[in-house]
Amino acid sequence: MQEIRVELTEHPQPKPTDSSKLGFGTIFTDHMFIMNYDEGEGWHDARIVPFGPIELSPAAMCLHYGQSVFEGMKAYRAVDGRILLFRPDKNMARLNSSNDRLCIPLIDEEFSKKAIEKLVSIEKDWIPSAEGTSLYIRPFIIGIDPHVGVHPAQHLLFIVLCSPVGAYYPEGLNPVKIYVETNYVRAVKGGMGYTKTAGNYAASLKAQDEAEKQNYTQVLWLDGVERKYIEEVGTMNVFFVIGDEIVTPALQGSILPGITRMSAIELLKSWGMNVVERKLSIDELAQAAQDGKLKEAFGTGTAAVISPIGHLKWGDDVMNINNGEIGPISQRLYDTLTGIQWGKIQDEFGWTV
Ligand code: PMP
Repeated sequence: MQEIRVELTEHPQPKPTDSSKLGFGTIFTDHMFIMNYDEGEGWHDARIVPFGPIELSPAAMCLHYGQSVFEGMKAYRAVDGRILLFRPDKNMARLNSSNDRLCIPLIDEEFSKKAIEKLVSIEKDWIPSAEGTSLYIRPFIIGIDPHVGVHPAQHLLFIVLCSPVGAYYPEGLNPVKIYVETNYVRAVKGGMGYTKTAGNYAASLKAQDEAEKQNYTQVLWLDGVERKYIEEVGTMNVFFVIGDEIVTPALQGSILPGITRMSAIELLKSWGMNVVERKLSIDELAQAAQDGKLKEAFGTGTAAVISPIGHLKWGDDVMNINNGEIGPISQRLYDTLTGIQWGKIQDEFGWTV
């Protein structure tokens, strides 16, 4: 395994003192991890250096053709003082799946996980301790060849940033308002929906912007072909409790395979609940709501963990779910996942590192 060179900053920044004002993703810690890829040499020169601007040619390929991938994970300060990561091996595996789709050279997953552990341990004093706060970790890879021409990069950077964060949505665990997006689509089968690549998020901005202008938190995405089947909610996977079934859309190429989604499914199964991954059409959902069978709806993701949906609008059809309150399954999942992440309850699954 390569050595990781460490150069500590001579100008440490003051750490935030009021964790209620952390917000999400605007404050960065003192250091970052960087590693280069050069054709012929492979990934090399792994280093942890002071956080700061990087120099890029204005012709850098990532700026023009979007050859970039990323991950989102968190370090938690456990109640007993330990620093915990949640299933980091899954993030590294997903990064490589994104790399593969975007013709980015694969990373050594074990080494990259160790590099993140090392960065987090250097930045441990930046990990906030107030309820619901954590250190958000953003690994990303960009193609940097100074070349205006569409082909896979031969020179890339793998960088990891850290940012102390509070709640992702100001609503916290309060149910959010969502509408069903019928105009724009996020991704299509055969495209890049199952990867975490910048272009997917660029594709989502317009819908997000229009939703916010109408006082909605996010949109519910439908499939890009028939505009019929439910895919995701904003930047989260989505679950619905319909009768005695807990349904989440099956992964079929256009949906990001969320690590919170995977964990929620495993937890629900371990509780003996009837969780199914299948196609779910918006008509079926609206009908279930009308029949009084739609009991709960929630998004799952690293940023907010569980985000209940209290109000779902589809054209003129408005579904008020569980009276706009958090339901028992959403609450139990939230308590269990955050309990494991913050080391408050026994991690029977061995998910934390
Ligand atoms: N879908 C999309 C589009 C996302 O960006 C995310 C956040 N990574 C998720 C789902 C949830 O994934 P995870 O549970 O791994 O955070």
